[in-house]
Amino acid sequence: GTPIRPQDTDQLLQSILSEARQNNQGKVASYIPALANVDPECTAIAMVTNQGQFFQAGDADTPFSIQSISKIFGLVMAMRRSGNTVWQRVNMEPSGQPFNSIVQLEWEYGIPRNPFINAGAIVIADMLVSQYSTSKLAFIGFLRQLAGTDRLYVDEEVYESELTHGSRNAAMAYLMHSFGNMEADVDQVLEHYFYQCSIPITCKQLARSLCFLANRGVDPFTDESICSRRDAHRVNAILSTSGMYDQSGEFAFSVGLPAKSGVGGAIAAIIPGLGAVVAWSPRLNHFGNSHRGMTMITRLAEEMGLSVFGV
Ligand code: GLN
Repeated sequence: GTPIRPQDTDQLLQSILSEARQNNQGKVASYIPALANVDPECTAIAMVTNQGQFFQAGDADTPFSIQSISKIFGLVMAMRRSGNTVWQRVNMEPSGQPFNSIVQLEWEYGIPRNPFINAGAIVIADMLVSQYSTSKLAFIGFLRQLAGTDRLYVDEEVYESELTHGSRNAAMAYLMHSFGNMEADVDQVLEHYFYQCSIPITCKQLARSLCFLANRGVDPFTDESICSRRDAHRVNAILSTSGMYDQSGEFAFSVGLPAKSGVGGAIAAIIPGLGAVVAWSPRLNHFGNSHRGMTMITRLAEEMGLSVFGV
């Protein structure tokens, strides 16, 4: 495609940021103390294109906790190693339940509805732990490669905090174990899952990391094939139906982009053919999605005509 016009885009992002700052709704995630301590006023948006353009406004170089957005990278790693067998252990349907819901697991014999709810990401973590001798290092190495920086590390305080407040995720993991859908040591699987959630990253780094999904699986910065075109399509499809949890339908309706949110307050959206955008602000709505993030991505998609359903 043709490069987008830099001046217009910088102005647009500034204006989107100012508008979002008017929105004071919601609450910062408080299930662990380390997350409750972030400055709720932080607000940022960064857009990176497949042609190497970077646009940003606000705190786009301030790291936040990646949380559930890590589920995308875990899934891609598992697909690279396991191919189609991934889909024997996790489904591809929207859940219609909160991200940390456990009920469907019992009805559906330990097969999570999709890889982007916690239960699904824990099954994916099980695959990674089984397949890599050091899955945590493999995970952070993969993220560093995609982000184009060696300087990504786990936040030990968040990680320890996740471990000590992880009963609900542990309950899901053991329930899946009872159905035979856990292969590795359950505690090791949970450690991997919490580790990948506890990595701080900036809007800019995260947007860059996701461009391969907007570029048929090829990282436009390195020309390296990260996944097949078919797998990039599949990840985007599941992001469109399940990436925003129980608000995915509304997000498709009003934005129309594959996207993933995390309780750290970020929303990452793939713009197929163009690049990726990440908006961040810590106050969350009751679905666990960032209020200001929703405002920013919605307005950007509208103004730039980005919806994949509108072309
Ligand atoms: N660490 C969080 C959890 O497992 C991640 C959830 C999220 O970002 N929605 O509950």
